[in-house]
Amino acid sequence: AVSLSGLIKSYGQGKPVLKGIDLEIQPGEFFTMLGPSGSGKTTTLRLIGGFELPNAGQIKLSGQDVTGLPPYKRDVNTMFQDYALFPHMSLCDNVAYGMKMSGVPAAERAERARQALAMVHLDAVSDRRPSQLSGGQRQRVALARALVNKPALILLDEPLGALDLKLRREMQIELKRIQKQTGITFVYVTHDQEEALSMSDRIAVFSEGVIEQIGTPQELYERPASSFVARFLGSSS
Ligand code: ATP
Repeated sequence: AVSLSGLIKSYGQGKPVLKGIDLEIQPGEFFTMLGPSGSGKTTTLRLIGGFELPNAGQIKLSGQDVTGLPPYKRDVNTMFQDYALFPHMSLCDNVAYGMKMSGVPAAERAERARQALAMVHLDAVSDRRPSQLSGGQRQRVALARALVNKPALILLDEPLGALDLKLRREMQIELKRIQKQTGITFVYVTHDQEEALSMSDRIAVFSEGVIEQIGTPQELYERPASSFVARFLGSSS
């Protein structure tokens, strides 16, 4: 689904924050980019989404070279950590908003929004405004909005970062369930080892703008490729 080759990125005149990223993500995978703060995970995600352009290298989505294309020309949705919901709109309208912009008829918008809200168990409160929800519920709305037009790929940047531990564990299970149920490829960014190991099909471990190792949770745990990977997986966040 995603193919990155030789990606190099620096901001302004600064030193490269990505120093050559190569990555193949399979359709339907739950793929996690894991690493310490500043290692380049978010930048890689932003390049896949088209929010930033690389200085060198190539990005392919479903076999198509999208390297220079803007976000709206890529079959990708993003779930941001701050949710970015419209406060004056109902949950249903929040979820349906993007479809309105792309000209989907009203009845179909409402039906698709209802289905997406049902998937995150919020169909019973679809008339509420975001301010009438808990943090965990708001987070579910953001997920419903990412799911609603069934993109090939959803990008998630530390989506559970603002939640308390109990809610975080609940949402981890929920996210994993939805990903398997829909078959949508998830590309997930976190600095939480436990979260990455429990949810992912495969993990790429980032350090200072390079990928140290890519593998299944079991492969990383049993055969870390470097002392950095071993130390990082072994430490708690
Ligand atoms: P975090 O978990 O803290 O978000 P990260 O691994 O996602 O870390 P990035 O956000 O990709 O890392 O940042 C990589 C480097 O690029 C950091 O040194 C950061 O300061 C720098 N950086 C990120 N965004 C910008 C920007 N818009 N302008 C300048 N420098 C940036």
